Amino acid sequence: MDEYFTPIHTYQVCNVMSPNQNNWLRTKWLQRNGARRIYIEIKFTLRDCNSMPGVVGTCKETFNLYYFESDRDIGPNIWENQFVKIDTVAADESFTSVDLGVRKLKLNTEVRGVGPLRKKGIYLAFQDIGACIAIVSVRVYYKKCPAMIRNLAVFPDAVTGADSSSLVEVQGQCVDHSEERDTPKMYCSAEGEWLVPIGKCVCSAGYEEQRDSCQACEPGFFKPNSGDQLCARCPLHSHSNVMAALFCQCNSNYYRSPSDLPSAPCTRPPSAPVNALSSVNGTSVFLEWSPPINSGGRNDVRYNVICRKCAWQSSQCEACENRIRYSPKQMGLTEPAVSMVNLLAHTNYTLQVEAVNGVSDLSLEPRQFISLNVTTNQAAPSQILVIKQENTSQSSVTLMWHEPDQPNGIILEYEIKYFEKGKEQQSYSTLKARGTSVTVSNLKPGTRYIFQVRARTSAGCGRFSQTVEIETGKIVSLRYDTTTIIWICFALVLGLIVLMAMFICRKRTGNTALHWRSILLHSLSFLYRRCGYSKAFQDPDEEKMYYQNGHLRFPDPKIYVDPHTYEDPGQAVREFAREIEASRIKIEKVIGSGEFGEVCYGRLKLPAKREIPVALKTLKVGYTEKQRRDFLSEASIMGQFDHPNIIRLEGVVTRSKPVMIVTDYMENGSLDSFLRRHDGQFTVIQLVGMLRGIAAGMKYLSDLGYIHRDLAARNILVNSNLVCKVSDFGLSRILEDDPDAAYTTTGGKIPIRWTSPEAITYRKFSSASDVWSYGVVMWEVTSYGERPYWNMTNRDVIKSVEEGYRLPAPMGCPAALHQLMLDCWQKDRSERPKFIQIVSVLDKLIRNPINLKTIDTMSSHLTVSDQVSVNLPPVLPQTIPNFTSFASVDEWLDGIKMGRYKDNFAAAGYLSLGLVMRMNMEDIRRLGITLMGHQKKIHSSIQIMRTQLMCANSPGIHV
Ligand code: AMP
Repeated sequence: MDEYFTPIHTYQVCNVMSPNQNNWLRTKWLQRNGARRIYIEIKFTLRDCNSMPGVVGTCKETFNLYYFESDRDIGPNIWENQFVKIDTVAADESFTSVDLGVRKLKLNTEVRGVGPLRKKGIYLAFQDIGACIAIVSVRVYYKKCPAMIRNLAVFPDAVTGADSSSLVEVQGQCVDHSEERDTPKMYCSAEGEWLVPIGKCVCSAGYEEQRDSCQACEPGFFKPNSGDQLCARCPLHSHSNVMAALFCQCNSNYYRSPSDLPSAPCTRPPSAPVNALSSVNGTSVFLEWSPPINSGGRNDVRYNVICRKCAWQSSQCEACENRIRYSPKQMGLTEPAVSMVNLLAHTNYTLQVEAVNGVSDLSLEPRQFISLNVTTNQAAPSQILVIKQENTSQSSVTLMWHEPDQPNGIILEYEIKYFEKGKEQQSYSTLKARGTSVTVSNLKPGTRYIFQVRARTSAGCGRFSQTVEIETGKIVSLRYDTTTIIWICFALVLGLIVLMAMFICRKRTGNTALHWRSILLHSLSFLYRRCGYSKAFQDPDEEKMYYQNGHLRFPDPKIYVDPHTYEDPGQAVREFAREIEASRIKIEKVIGSGEFGEVCYGRLKLPAKREIPVALKTLKVGYTEKQRRDFLSEASIMGQFDHPNIIRLEGVVTRSKPVMIVTDYMENGSLDSFLRRHDGQFTVIQLVGMLRGIAAGMKYLSDLGYIHRDLAARNILVNSNLVCKVSDFGLSRILEDDPDAAYTTTGGKIPIRWTSPEAITYRKFSSASDVWSYGVVMWEVTSYGERPYWNMTNRDVIKSVEEGYRLPAPMGCPAALHQLMLDCWQKDRSERPKFIQIVSVLDKLIRNPINLKTIDTMSSHLTVSDQVSVNLPPVLPQTIPNFTSFASVDEWLDGIKMGRYKDNFAAAGYLSLGLVMRMNMEDIRRLGITLMGHQKKIHSSIQIMRTQLMCANSPGIHV
C-alpha cells in the first residue's frame, strides 16, 4: 500500500539474513527508437539495516543498476557478465519498523543516464546484493527538442546528443513558398532546448509571412521579390486580379516604362505645352513655352521641336533644312526654351513643340503639341567655311574659298583680314576682293601669317571665317637643337648619379627587419650615421629617439619593444632578462608542460635575498637554434613588463642546460582549469576581483602598445591569493602552442572563439580586439570555465557572431557584468570600451556591490547584439526575488520556477530553508536533479539567498 492506502505492485527482495546474495531482476528488451542517451528514473524504498537486529555484516543498503545493448530480443539467455554497470544506487531515505507502524512510505527517487547507445535496444537489470528493497516504479525516457518552426524553417523533432554537454546540429527546411536566405540551422541541447538559430528562409515573390507560414498576396496586392517585406497594395492606376501577384497591371491608357519599378504608379503621356512665344532676330529664332498642364503623373517631361518650312501664301510645308542649329538641342529638351540659328532669311516656318515623357512611346494616342508660325528677317551672309591656300612665295600668299552657304542676298564683296601670328593686337591689314580668291603680297619672308575672310551683302557683313595659318618661308635652327640635346644629356647623367647614390645607401643599411617602425628607425639612423644628417629629412619623432647598443630607441620606457626588430635576438634577451646561475635554482617537481618543454616548480635563492618559489619553463633537449630563439623571445617580452597582474620574469638560465625561463610561481595554475575545479564556489565579488586584476594587467599592456592576441582564461595564471596574472607572451605561441587556434581563410592560426571578427577576417589585431577577447574571458570566469560557444563548430561561431548573436549571460551572472561583456563585443571596434574604462567600471561595481544584485536572464539562448547597439540591456534584466521573504522550501522552488523538484527536496528531508541553505552542488545532484541547467539555477539561487540573508542580518553592509 502506498501512503494513501492504495495497493501498488512492487518487486521486492529482503534476504538480509543470508550472506552473499546475488539476485537479479531484468526488464524486457526495450527498443531504443533513435535515442542516443536514455535516462532511468527508479522509485524505490529501502529498509534501514540498523533497524533490523541480527543482520550486521549481511544486510546492504544499495543495489546495482546494469544495462546490456542488443539489436534484437534475445530472450532470457543473457549472462550476468554481459551486463555493463551503470551505477551503484543508494537510498537517501530508508525506513525503520517505526515508519512501518505508522505506514510512512519513504520513497526514494534516483535518476541515472546512460549513453551513447548504438544498438537497437537495451535490457536493464537490477542486482540485489543483500538489501531489503522494493522497486516501486522504473521510468525509462529520452529527451528531444520538439519540432518547431523558426525563421520560416521547419525543424523536425530532434533527439538530444549522446552526452550531457553536446549540442546536435539540425538543419531546417523552408516552409512552402519560401526560399533559403542562408541555410537555416539550430542546435538541440542535451536538455531538449533549441539554441542558436542561424540562417533563415524568406517568403518567395508573391507571398508574405503570416504566423510562421508564407501566404499568397490577395488580389489588389503584389510582392515583386522574395524577402521579408509584406505584400504591397497595387500602386495608383494599376490592379491585380489574381492571388500571389508579382506585379500589378496598368489600367487601360496607363503605362509603366521599362525603367519604372513594379511599385511605381502607372502613368500617361503629358498634355501639350502651353503659352509658347517666339522672338525673331534676323535668321535666328528664340522659342519659349510653359510646361504642360498635365504631366501624366510623371516628372520626366521632355520637349521636342519640329520645324517645317512653308511657302509664301501657301499651306504647303516641307521639313526644314539640316543646317538649322538648335541650342541646347532639338529633341529631348529638359528646359522649356530653345534657340534656332541658321534659318533662311525672309522665310515662313511652322514650329511645333511637343511634350513627351517616359511612357509616350508606349501610347498609341497622337502626341500633343503647340504650334507657332514665324517669319525670318533680312540677314547678313553666313560664315565662309573653308579657305584653301593656293600658292605661297616668300612675300605673297594666294587664297581661295567658297561662297557662304546662306548668302541671304547678293554678295557685294569679300573682306580678307591678315596679320603676323601673335601680333593681332599690334596691327592687322585688310584687303577687299570681288571674287572668291585673292593674292596677298608684300609679306615678310619666313613669317607665319593668320588669314580670315568674310562676305558682305546689303544687310551687312557676315562673320569672319576660321583662321588659317600660313608661313611664308622656313629657317632651320641648328643652334637651338644642339642646346636642347646638351640639356637632355646633362639631366640624364644627373639622374644616373642620384640613382646610384640611393642604391649604395640602401645596401649599406642592410635592414631586413619586417617591422615598419624598425625600417623607419634604421633608415633614419642610417641617414644620421652614414649618409650625413640633413635637417630637411628630420622626422619630428627623431628628436625623441636615442641610440642604445646600436639601436635607435624611444627614450620613453613605456613603449614595448618588439624583439623581432633586433637583428640579433640574443641581444634582446640580454637587454631585458637577467641571467641567473643554475646553481641558484632547485628544481622540485614537474607541474605542467608547455610548447617547448616541461614546466617545473622550484625555488630560487639570489644573493642577499630570501628564497622564493618559482616556476621554471624549460627548453627540451635537442632543440634547434630557432626553437631556442623563439623560447627566449617570451623572456625578452616578459622582461619589459612590471605590473602586479602580469606574470613576472625573475630571469633566464642560458649559460647552462636546461635553458630555462624563471617566473613567479602561481599556486593555482591556469584560470580556466582552476575555475572548473571550483565550480560555483566563489562569491560574485571574488569573481569581479579576478576580472578587475586581468583588466588592470591588460590596461598596462595596452598602454605599452603591446597587443596580446591570445587573451583567454587558459593564459591567465592564478596564485594562492586569487590574484590573476596575464601570461603567455611567446612570439610563436598563436601558431604553435594554442590548441584552440584554428587556421582561417586568410591564413594564419587564430583562437576563433576568443577573437574579434575584424581580427579573424582582416587580421586587424589591436587593443580593441584584445578587449573583445577580454569579454570572452569575463564569460569564462562567470560561467566557471565553461567553453565559449560550447561545442559549436568554429565555422558556426564565426557565422553566428557575424549575424549578431552574442553569448548569453551565464547562470547567475549579474546584468552589469553581462552588459560589460556585450560592450566588449561591439561589432565596431571603436565602440568597445578601453581597458582603462573596464577597470573603472569594475572598480565601481566592487565599491557598490548592490549593482551586482540584478541577475541577468536565465535563458541559455544566444543574445542578438542589435539590442546592444541601442545601449539597451540584451535581455530585460530580471530583478531577483527577495529570497528572505520565502516562507517554505515549496514556495521558494515555485519562486524560481523549479516547483517540479518539490518531491525531491521533500523526499531527501530538506524541509526548511535553513537546511536548503547549507546545500552544495553535490547535495543538489544527489536529489536526482540531472539537468545541469537546473542544478546551476538552484545552486545560484541558494548562493543569492545566503547573501541576502547576510545583508538582512547586517544592516549597513552591502554584499
Ligand atoms: P605555458 O607553456 O605557459 O602554457 O605553461 C604550461 C602550463 O604550465 C600552464 O598551463 C600552467 O599550468 C603551468 N604554468 C606555467 N607557468 C606557471 C607559473 N608561473 N606558475 C604555475 N604554473 C605555471
